[in-house]
Amino acid sequence: MNPGESSETQKGQSGIFRAALLGLCPRCGEKTLFEAPARVAMTCRQCDLDLGSLERGGRLGGVLTALIAIVLILIAYGVETMFRPPLWLQAAFWAPVTVFGVIGTLRLFKTALLYEAFEDSEGQSQ
Ligand SMILES: [Zn+2]
Repeated sequence: MNPGESSETQKGQSGIFRAALLGLCPRCGEKTLFEAPARVAMTCRQCDLDLGSLERGGRLGGVLTALIAIVLILIAYGVETMFRPPLWLQAAFWAPVTVFGVIGTLRLFKTALLYEAFEDSEGQSQ
């Protein structure tokens, strides 16, 4: 991140990607959104925003994880059929790809939903 960059919340897709990557709180912009790699914190440590009530994607998260797993298995199967790589190489490649793929997608998914819920609640209170 550039030191000259302002801390204002960015709008649009790039804002969501950045927020998901860094775990930025939708209200104060601090890196307090996630308490674990893919688990949203209950409240923001900085501004006390109730993140738990904004998180709606709890159940969908499991479905999404399953979908990612299916897609990865299909890709792994395709690689296996086409290139026949040794098993150790497959394991060494797919273990981190699966972990980061699932965590990354869940973070992005939860951040997008949470920001949407936050904007909804802000709109209602005005
Ligand atoms: Zn906050």
